[in-house]
Amino acid sequence: MKLTRKVSFSSGHRYWLDDLTEQQNRALFGKWASPHYHGHNYELWATIAGQIDPKSGMVINIKVLDGILKERIVSKFDQKSINDEVPFFRNAAPSLENLVKFCADALAQLPEGVRLTHLRLQETPRLWAERNLEGDNAMTTLTRTYEFCASHRLHNPELSDEQNAALFGKCSNPNGHGHNYILEVTVTGDVNPTSGMMVDLGRMDAVVNELVVDYLDHKHLNLDIEEFKQKIPTSEEVTRFVFERLNDRLPAKLVRVRLHETGRNSFEYAVE
Ligand SMILES: [Zn+2]
Ligand SMILES: [Zn+2]
Repeated sequence: MKLTRKVSFSSGHRYWLDDLTEQQNRALFGKWASPHYHGHNYELWATIAGQIDPKSGMVINIKVLDGILKERIVSKFDQKSINDEVPFFRNAAPSLENLVKFCADALAQLPEGVRLTHLRLQETPRLWAERNLEGDNAMTTLTRTYEFCASHRLHNPELSDEQNAALFGKCSNPNGHGHNYILEVTVTGDVNPTSGMMVDLGRMDAVVNELVVDYLDHKHLNLDIEEFKQKIPTSEEVTRFVFERLNDRLPAKLVRVRLHETGRNSFEYAVE
């Protein structure tokens, strides 16, 4: 049995290491380099696994879990400058990768019978890190979101109009219809020990924008996009297309692509 609890904290940080020169800081952190602070409303989801205790009917008393999260994480970060007030970060960049590792280490020891299996730490709704602690899938990933608008028509030319209507319903409307797609791109890689980062987000954004967003945005997928002239642009196919287009092109290893077609459905394509 697993349960997930969410906590929030607001903290300031700066991407600027005092023992480096200005030039070195700017080379290391790119457009995020600044000797001044900025802040985030961080949100952390902690997933805990264990057996249901027959006496309480719970895996862990949520009050106990809240106390642990507050003592070991929230009270250390909330309303603080991470660089100056959390001792670990005096010499480590306060990147999401380092922060999620700090949180995983802080929660490594839990009451008997329960264990941490997954953490998600969100810096903004457009960027979060996840640390999976389970077995062979143990890894830290970073997810960035992008948006594009496109229209499409679900239609198989080998089927009759009636068959298409029966299969695709309204989605087979002859003149198409559109969506505001939200794309999540998840990567992993080795964390640079100095910058604390596994990927240069500026370079990642440039690649995703060039290869996917600019390519698909404000297009009619069936008519404008070569790859969908012979293929039905369902969200399954678009998701796989995005994955294949980005795979081996990003400055980090692509793990997963998730495409939200509407607020009610999303599609995921991942490496095995
Ligand atoms: Zn920041
Ligand atoms: Zn549609």
